[in-house]
Amino acid sequence: MTSKMESVIQKSLSALLDENIFLPKLNGSTRQRAYQSLVSILSTPNHVNKSFLRISLENGRVIRIPAFRVQHNNTLGPYKGGIRFHESVNEDEVVNLAKLMTLKNALHDVPFGGGKGGVVINPREFSEKELNLICKKYVHYFSDSLGTEKDIPAPDIGTGEREMDWMMAEFKSIHPGETYRGSFTGKSIMNGGSLGRREATGKGVYYSYKYLLYDFVENNKSLLDKNSDNPFVQTALSHRNRALTIAVQGFGNVGSVAALEAYRCAYLQNKIVAVSDRNITLYNDDGLDIPALIHYTNEHEGDLPTDQTELSKHDIKATVQDRDDLLELDVDVLFLAALEDQIHTKNQKNIKSTIIVEGANAPITQEADKYLTDNGVLIIPDILANAGGVIVSYLEWMQGRETQFYKEEEVFDLLYDKMSTTFETVLPKFFSDLFSLRQNCYNHSVMKLSTILYRQGKLY
Ligand code: NAD
Repeated sequence: MTSKMESVIQKSLSALLDENIFLPKLNGSTRQRAYQSLVSILSTPNHVNKSFLRISLENGRVIRIPAFRVQHNNTLGPYKGGIRFHESVNEDEVVNLAKLMTLKNALHDVPFGGGKGGVVINPREFSEKELNLICKKYVHYFSDSLGTEKDIPAPDIGTGEREMDWMMAEFKSIHPGETYRGSFTGKSIMNGGSLGRREATGKGVYYSYKYLLYDFVENNKSLLDKNSDNPFVQTALSHRNRALTIAVQGFGNVGSVAALEAYRCAYLQNKIVAVSDRNITLYNDDGLDIPALIHYTNEHEGDLPTDQTELSKHDIKATVQDRDDLLELDVDVLFLAALEDQIHTKNQKNIKSTIIVEGANAPITQEADKYLTDNGVLIIPDILANAGGVIVSYLEWMQGRETQFYKEEEVFDLLYDKMSTTFETVLPKFFSDLFSLRQNCYNHSVMKLSTILYRQGKLY
């Protein structure tokens, strides 16, 4: 993940310099110096906060758990990014995810910087009481750097509204009298959360796919005709007017909502033939019953049914396959909504889908990204597709400050509005040049950050 992001950022910087759109008013050496300053600023985080949380388990044992809060850049506003509870969390991963948040917020014009947090645990191995203690300790250890105007965490893998509620309550007791509703987003509705926040990322992920394949194609026929040699135009057009088969990797918050949106969509004829989770893949050539699967996971701690007995008991028609089979199925579209690095050099050649939507952050390695892009696969990148969560987090933060709350449909209207504005900015350029969509998005973010950093006098 590190090398991919670095290389895409580097390519953006070079492209901006070559095309003379990087600070065009500066001349020769001044421009070169500003450019070098920007490279340093974007490639390093402002702060890496690390601690070992001291946790007293219910069995009386005391353990120390590594925990991180990384603040990459706050040029556009307070740091913002989720807290991940997962056993594979490490410092490099958190730094890179924080960097991605800086670029994502810049791309979608969200007035936040980039941050990220992580705790090295498998939350399934801890009791509710122990998890509550871990959340409180996390806030306690990093309390000086968190806050409504400083750094605003949100949920990520392994955390949800329960954890955000606990964390906000701890923040409030550590900082009496300070504003606290905007200190965490992704909270429960009763505790100041926004309607629609839980569904926001998955809805945004599906919206990015629908926008590209339907709204954009319908409204930009002459641009697409003019660029009919572009392999991505060919991929987008080859999917018109026919039913599309979809496989969704990861059936958690993001994947299940995106799958439901696809299942219900009135604009495109989708057939979701496969979904997977940490255990298995479920497959049905005639299409899976997504609402029934969501109902099942809600009642079974998030897991899909793993055998025929369980499927029959709940009247769900599907065959059970190995978890990683899903990626190599002969389907039109893959939604990746699980973890990083799922498509890599070992399986890239077996991928048959021609459209991939990144709901997860960085689910494709650098090498695989190049291989697939060179082969005409249209990848809707994480930075573009999965910003729904941070956009609605921004709405939650605003609602918390104003103590005025939007209706759910207002939240989704504002979400789609913001995402469409970004699509309108990057898609025409993407279809008329030969940069990947990921590269186009990075170019846009880097250009925005460079202009603002320059105006703030930070590039001297
Ligand atoms: P989640 O914990 O709710 O769901 C993750 C799902 O992936 C679960 O169904 C899990 O069983 C499954 N999974 C785990 N390992 C797998 C594997 N190897 N193969 C297939 N499935 C596997 O997490 P989430 O909130 O849905 O997040 C998913 C991804 O989206 C993460 O990469 C996260 O960083 C990213 N993301 C989430 C949000 C958000 O608002 N939740 C926002 C932006 C990005």
